[in-house]
Amino acid sequence: MSPAGAGKADELVPDVTVLGAGVVGVCTALSLRERGFTVALIDRNPPAEGASHGNAGSLSPWSCVPQSMPGLWKNVPQWLLDPEGPIALRWGYAHKFLPWAVKFLQAGNLDRLPTIADAMLGLTRPTVTLYRHHLTGTGSEDLVRDSVYVHVFRNAADADLSRLAWRMRAERQVPLEVVKGDALREVEPALSSDFEAAVLIKQQGRALDPGGIGKALAEKAQGMGVTFLRRSVERLIPGADGAWSIETDQGAIPAKKIVVAMGAWSKELMSGLGVTAPLEAERGYHLVFRNPGVTLNNCIMNVDAKFVVSSMAAGVRCAGTAEFAGVDAAPDYRRARVFEGMIKRMFPDINTTDTVEWMGPRPSTPDSVPYLGEIPGFTNLFAAYGHGHTGMTMAPKTGEVVASVIAGEAVDIDMTPYRIDRFG
Ligand SMILES: Cc1cc2nc3c(=O)[nH]c(=O)nc-3n(C[C@H](O)[C@H](O)[C@H](O)COP(=O)(O)OP(=O)(O)OC[C@H]3O[C@@H](n4cnc5c(N)ncnc54)[C@H](O)[C@@H]3O)c2cc1C
Repeated sequence: MSPAGAGKADELVPDVTVLGAGVVGVCTALSLRERGFTVALIDRNPPAEGASHGNAGSLSPWSCVPQSMPGLWKNVPQWLLDPEGPIALRWGYAHKFLPWAVKFLQAGNLDRLPTIADAMLGLTRPTVTLYRHHLTGTGSEDLVRDSVYVHVFRNAADADLSRLAWRMRAERQVPLEVVKGDALREVEPALSSDFEAAVLIKQQGRALDPGGIGKALAEKAQGMGVTFLRRSVERLIPGADGAWSIETDQGAIPAKKIVVAMGAWSKELMSGLGVTAPLEAERGYHLVFRNPGVTLNNCIMNVDAKFVVSSMAAGVRCAGTAEFAGVDAAPDYRRARVFEGMIKRMFPDINTTDTVEWMGPRPSTPDSVPYLGEIPGFTNLFAAYGHGHTGMTMAPKTGEVVASVIAGEAVDIDMTPYRIDRFG
């Protein structure tokens, strides 16, 4: 091929190829395109059908409390033994889970919490503003609503702002208020009076259809010139001069710069390159109650049982639980069905006859902080995965940060806590 021909072929290769079209990949593609890059987005499925489809839709600009907290380990045995408990482990998977679990418990160290909390907040704060910006012109603007995050307690004494997690929030100016009795019923009239009190986290958002938001944004990205390729990515092969070859089920695709945003599936792809940053699939479940007969005004967290309930476009969605079984193990929908009894105890008037169940894997790092930015030891390879329980919230800022790094712009947050090599 003549040099001129070679030039033309090179022009056909997009500046950046984003692997994974969950909310993280889609938001990253949008932010890159806004900066003028040509972008390809690759996914084996249509956009936003992984974890991004079925999450609880809480868009919390104040999320700064990681999953691993001091003393949490004391609850683990009791949670594991309770079939309605918030965590489950398939025993055949225990040996693979253990190394991550050790790092997870180590992350819940008092000394590490301030850095972790600030790193989380760095990605969560602008979520509602950025979603509204990205959704402008899609016709789906209405899918993000203003909300309060209502953390409900059966026992009023448990709504105690002196506890560590609430103190961490208060120190970071999170707007909190304790409400009790009738005042709580005013906020959420359908809630059972068995719940005596709540802590309200104010000024946040909720998604009425998280997957629908992902799809609307993917459509917008395509309208802006992003190419969507439906392929299964199998391997990444570094080439000469910093270029890459992406091996897929339908042949190899040349790439200049790659962003890995394949959520919980990123670990296996990266291990092919020798990158062993810890990541676990924290498989969550949801149950949607169609025709519920009750409407909730906000996202509601049942703090004791650790699940979230919200009125969405398709009905009332109950989402939560963490099952460790490996990313691609078959779902165990008993984990979703437990929500039926639990929701009836929260909202006695709810109609539970018409349900849809779902499972999806949260891509969880031990410290609840995702892996972002350049991957040491490689050229033109960037991480955007590991968003755990707060990826719906963190996705738009993640896109901004990763696009800024690739563009060589000054990034407005310290990138150190997101380094992929922080666990050694
Ligand atoms: C039950 C539950 C409740 C949650 N609630 C909330 C909440 O209220 N608020 C919040 O902020 N977050 C919440 N989350 C977390 C949030 O959903 C995730 O962190 C987020 O969706 C992760 O997005 P992602 O784009 O990284 O991954 P995903 O959405 O999983 O996307 C990964 C993509 O990679 C693709 N892919 C995988 N392998 C390949 C391959 N080999 N080739 C090509 N493509 C591939 C997949 O098809 C998928 O589309 C919740 C999660 C769960 C499970």
